Amino acid sequence: MAERMLKFVGTSQAMPDKRPAAERRRDFGEIYAGYAREKAAEQAARCSQCGVPFCQIHCPLNNNIPDWLKLTAEGRLEEAYELSSATNNFPEICGRICPQDRLCEGNCVIEKGFDSVTIGSVEKFITDTAWSQGWVRPIRPRRERRESVAIVGAGPAGLAAAEQLRRKGYQVTIYDRYDRVGGLLIYGIPNFKLEKEIVQRREALLRDSKVTFELECDVGRDVSLAELRQRHDAVLLATGVYKAREIAAPGVGLPGIAAALDYLTASNRIGLGDQVPAFESGALDARGKNVVVLGGGDTAMDCVRTAVRQGARTVKCLYRRDRANMPGSQREVKHAEEEGVEFVWLTAPQSFLGKNEVSHVRSVRIHLGMPDASGRQTPQEIPNSHANIEADLVLTALGFDAEDLPAAMGAPDLAVNGGGTLKIDWRSMMTSLDGVFAAGDIVRGASLVVWAVRDGRDAAERIHGYLTTRAQAALRLAGE
Ligand code: FAD
Ligand code: SF4
Ligand code: SF4
Repeated sequence: MAERMLKFVGTSQAMPDKRPAAERRRDFGEIYAGYAREKAAEQAARCSQCGVPFCQIHCPLNNNIPDWLKLTAEGRLEEAYELSSATNNFPEICGRICPQDRLCEGNCVIEKGFDSVTIGSVEKFITDTAWSQGWVRPIRPRRERRESVAIVGAGPAGLAAAEQLRRKGYQVTIYDRYDRVGGLLIYGIPNFKLEKEIVQRREALLRDSKVTFELECDVGRDVSLAELRQRHDAVLLATGVYKAREIAAPGVGLPGIAAALDYLTASNRIGLGDQVPAFESGALDARGKNVVVLGGGDTAMDCVRTAVRQGARTVKCLYRRDRANMPGSQREVKHAEEEGVEFVWLTAPQSFLGKNEVSHVRSVRIHLGMPDASGRQTPQEIPNSHANIEADLVLTALGFDAEDLPAAMGAPDLAVNGGGTLKIDWRSMMTSLDGVFAAGDIVRGASLVVWAVRDGRDAAERIHGYLTTRAQAALRLAGE
């Protein structure tokens, strides 16, 4: 049955059903249900099929959104899946965790008067349907190539690159220091945003497609980069950024203060059935505690919402700017507020108080002054505005920097930028080492899954170009 488009005037925006906050607080399950088929078609039909689709322009993958919305509205779901998966390796993941309010949906032209088309939820619906119908199949390349590529890092950048290279018939091995595949999709992002099975079925698909995984293999410690360059025809570094930014405040060493990613990884591991001594001892368990999270990004949002689910007594998020100027998604703030998190805006920590362990965060109120060179208003402390906030668990979520990769990998010639991210030639995506490419957070700094996918796809294309040119040169030489 063909649905007509342009229904945004008569049909209101409807997200899939969201579970009540009281229920969500008790478990780690995803908070949104999926659309029923009719609802997805109805919501997709709200699209006005713009001649210049701003949604597509503002999607880092330039997904062909208007076309797959139209196909969904017409009930042609297999074609919608073919189209949406042609530009995105993990549409069901992006549909769940992209900050759509800042990307596709935030730029939907009907957003102004009528609330945007629910692009992310439709994208998720299309691919979840594809999985349930058996339309998502392992890769069987038309011809196998002899050349092999090593990918360091099994996060979204590495996995997207692996899939694209495998499609072209390359032999692909992914090395990761973790025991599981997925990078931050598995150990950073909590289940209530992205259930682990969604990532694990992608891993199984790649294994069925004959991608090889070498897990618990730390490149730099267990195998050197030089060795990988010997073993393979090209190497892609997709190692992400993991060095937590620290806070230099008195008392910061007190027990009870932990880095956000340690906390989230412990919680994710518990969910996966692992034994985590730091959780079992109570050090990384929020149960019954007054929890204070420092920061205003995605990681901070995940911490506060995890603490609620672990049964914290109170959960506060301290951020030195205001709601309008926070880096995290507004949708996430809304979910967190519904779940009982208190946001203390315009407040910064000054020191941590406590005898044997932290008991309070001493804070100061902030006034946002004139914009600096970057255009952001500078936070200024308001004199005599201090307060002591009760806290038995403080989680610091102040961002991440790159590790010293040249040192860690014993590769002093690997060029880096000021913040430690890898320097690449943006046209070739190659680092300063011949045949060594880089993609994802290790190039951009802490970013988004959708950008990691984009970079992984681009890197695969450049590696293919590099290897093809090299093979042609070898043939020419052999013919001379
Ligand atoms: P990663 O996902 O970090 O993967 C890198 C992999 O490299 C890891 O598996 C690591 O073990 C491996 N590795 C590193 N060094 C080595 C080595 N020497 N040898 C072998 N393996 C190595 N983005 C969103 O779009 N939406 C969100 O909601 C969102 N929430 C987030 C929540 C949290 C808590 C965090 C921390 C990030 C979040 N992000 C989110 C950001 C997103 O997860 C990252 O941008 C994305 O995962 C980057 O992908 P990547 O492949 O570059 O790196
Ligand atoms: Fe929107 Fe992300 Fe999907 Fe692009 S990948 S259409 S930004 S949800
Ligand atoms: Fe449809 Fe909105 Fe994209 Fe226009 S901007 S094509 S209305 S989803």
